[in-house]
Amino acid sequence: MKITDIRATTVTVPLEAPLRHSNGAHWGRFVRTIVEVDTDEGITGLGEMGGGGESAQAAFQGLKAYLVGHDPFQLEELRFKICNPTASLYNNRTQLHAAIEFACLDIIGKKLGISVSQLLGGSVRERVSFASYLFFRHPNDQSGEGEVRTIDQLVEHCHQLKKDHGFTTHKLKGGVFHPDYELECYRALADAFPEDRLRYDPNGALSVEEAIRFGQAIEGLRNDYFEDPAWGLNGMRRVRSMVRIPTATNTVVVNFEQLAANVLDPSIDVILLDTTFWGGIRPCIKAAGVCETFQLGIAVHSSGELGIQLATMLHLGAVVPNLAFAADAHYHHLTDDIIVGGKMHYENGSIRVPSGPGLGVELDRDKLARYAELYQELGGYPYDRDPVRPDWFPLVPNERWAKP
Ligand code: MG
Repeated sequence: MKITDIRATTVTVPLEAPLRHSNGAHWGRFVRTIVEVDTDEGITGLGEMGGGGESAQAAFQGLKAYLVGHDPFQLEELRFKICNPTASLYNNRTQLHAAIEFACLDIIGKKLGISVSQLLGGSVRERVSFASYLFFRHPNDQSGEGEVRTIDQLVEHCHQLKKDHGFTTHKLKGGVFHPDYELECYRALADAFPEDRLRYDPNGALSVEEAIRFGQAIEGLRNDYFEDPAWGLNGMRRVRSMVRIPTATNTVVVNFEQLAANVLDPSIDVILLDTTFWGGIRPCIKAAGVCETFQLGIAVHSSGELGIQLATMLHLGAVVPNLAFAADAHYHHLTDDIIVGGKMHYENGSIRVPSGPGLGVELDRDKLARYAELYQELGGYPYDRDPVRPDWFPLVPNERWAKP
C-alpha cells in the first residue's frame, strides 16, 4: 500500500465558555487541524493536531513530498523519515508525526478490519474513565452564561458535570487566581464531594515555595496527584521532597530523554501521556512500558481534542494495563464535534472505546466544512492574552494573579 496524498484542514469549534488557565491564558474556542491521508487502495486515514492555521496546513503540505509513496504499514520507517533525531536536528516535528501516525494506524486497522487497540496489543478495558476537567471560565461572550469564578459557581459547575456525565474524579485547572483563593476552591470541592478523587494543576505557575505551601495544606485530602504545581524538573523535585502527594507532569517529562532523566533523579511520580506531545499512540505505549518497569504511574493527558484525537486517547487508555487513574479530557466543554454521530457520550464518567476498524471514527463532511469556514471567518486564537487585562504581561510581579 502507498500513501498518495495528505490533506490538512484547520477548523475551529466553539466551547461552551472560554476556559481560563495559568497567567491569563485561556481557550476561547478550539483550533485544531484535521489530517487526511489517502492511499492507493482507496483507504483514507484520519489524524488531528492542536493549533493550526496556515502554518500547520503548510507543514503537512511540506511533508507530502517525503511521504507520498510511503507504505503506511512501515511505522518505524515513518518515524525516522519525519523525526530522525540526527538527520532532523533543526526540526521539531514530533506533533506532525503524531497526526500522521494516527492516520497510518487508522489505515492499517481499516485494511485489516480491526480496531487500533486490537492492533496495538488488544484492549484490557472496554471503557476509559475520565475526570471532570474543571476550569475557571469567562462567561460566553454571546449568551453571557457559563461563567465559573466564585467558589459557589465552581461547586455548582462540578455538581452539574457529575450529574450529566457521572464523573467521580475532579481536576481543577488553576494558576488563574491567587493560590490562597484556589486553595479555598479546592477545599470546597473536597467538602462537596467527599467520596470523589481530586487533582490540582496550575500549569507550573506557582513558585516552588507557593507550591510547597499549597501542597502541604491539601495533604489530607483525596488527591490523585499534584500536577505541575511549579516549573521544571528541579522545581518539582524540591516540591516532591516537601509534600507527601505524588507529583505528576505533562510539561517536563514529555519525551524519552526526560523520562530517563526522571528515572535517574526522580522529580515526577506520575507521567501524563499525551498522544500528540509524545509523537503518537505507539510512543505513549512504549513510555507506559518504561513506567511499568520503574513503577512510575501513568495517566492519559488531554491537550484539547476533537473526536479523532479523543479516539487516540481511548485506544491508548484501552491497551495500557498500568493505567490506574481517570484520564483527562477537555471534551465536555465543546459544543460540537466533526465526527459522524456528533460528540461521543460519557456514561458513569467513562467513554466506550470505539470498536470499529481503525480509530473507529468517521469525518462528518458537513461539520468539517462548517467549522473550516468558521476558522476562515474568525482566524487564529490569541490564547495567551487575557481578555480582562489585554495589555498585561504575565511577568508583572505584583499582578500575577487575576482578581476573583
Ligand atoms: Mg497539566
